[in-house]
Amino acid sequence: MSKRRRIYEGKAKVLYEGPEPGTLVQHFKDDATAFNAEKHDVIEGKGVLNNRISEYIFLQLAQIGIQTHFIKALNMREQLIREAEIVPLEVVIRNVAAGSLVKRLGLKEGEPLPRPLIEFYYKDDALGDPLISEDHIAVFGWATQNELDEIMTIAVRINDFLIGLFAGAGIRLVDFKLEFGRVWERDVQRIILADEISPDNCRLWDINSNKKLDKDRFRQDLGGLVDAYQEVARRLGIFSSNGHDGKKGPVLVS
Ligand code: UDP
Repeated sequence: MSKRRRIYEGKAKVLYEGPEPGTLVQHFKDDATAFNAEKHDVIEGKGVLNNRISEYIFLQLAQIGIQTHFIKALNMREQLIREAEIVPLEVVIRNVAAGSLVKRLGLKEGEPLPRPLIEFYYKDDALGDPLISEDHIAVFGWATQNELDEIMTIAVRINDFLIGLFAGAGIRLVDFKLEFGRVWERDVQRIILADEISPDNCRLWDINSNKKLDKDRFRQDLGGLVDAYQEVARRLGIFSSNGHDGKKGPVLVS
């Protein structure tokens, strides 16, 4: 078996060189980390679920005209993606108060926000991904004003779309994190959605019971993380057919 060149290894994913220039293979690991990797565990099956959930969401977003790095599914843990220069920002969109927002501003968890809130964090593990303002981004040149405008427009569209998608599955989209990349098309540089959208980087609550169906189950030692992620996949109808491309995949039973 030929050994693929590893381009980058993150906390939950590995990027390998792709089969053609300008492509990469994004591999989803079973590792779970929280609190800037202070807490770490391996949760069997998490990578497969995140791969499939993220694939599904990126395909849905492509259908409403949002450009993403996703090219095609490769196998249970891997997808082929476009290589992009990652903008060093974590873009968080919040609909309901939770997590660090609650701690920072003394809000009550679960309080709906008057309107969606967009926050920017500087992507730097050594600094613990600090919260930054738009002006930090301009002053330090992490993105141009045009790029930032485009990122915010896309983020709002994704939020509107995903609120509806999850609501249809009986799930409240509390907050989530996006990452964007730059690609060149002939002489034009554009922004595309990168990384992943999965219960690892969204807060997803059951609409009736407020049961947490996301990585907070790991952060807060609630247990049942894989069951919760499977529940999200099942409700979205992801495992209703036998895998993708006609290949046999797992079939979850309710
Ligand atoms: N998030 C993420 N990666 C990070 C930080 C946050 O995916 O490095 C996601 C997180 O899952 C949540 C949202 O962004 O859906 C807001 O996270 P928050 O700022 O509340 O931070 P946390 O409580 O996760 O430290």
